[in-house]
Amino acid sequence: MGRLLLLALAVLALVWLVRRALGARRPGADAAGGGAGELVACAHCGVNLPRAEARGTERGLYCSEEHARLGPRRP
Ligand SMILES: [Zn+2]
Repeated sequence: MGRLLLLALAVLALVWLVRRALGARRPGADAAGGGAGELVACAHCGVNLPRAEARGTERGLYCSEEHARLGPRRP
């Protein structure tokens, strides 16, 4: 009975290790789907660019320092 329990624990540990190894590879794919790869529109000219490259101000997100200075385009 004790050996069976030990075997069950060994299998569980193996499954946990495999899932952890597979999970460690996934964040790269997740980052491409969202997060740093997310596109945002410039509030001035409307061009789409990755969020990581956008200039954020209290008035919105912009593609460049120039457009951040100019502010949102008037309708
Ligand atoms: Zn712009």
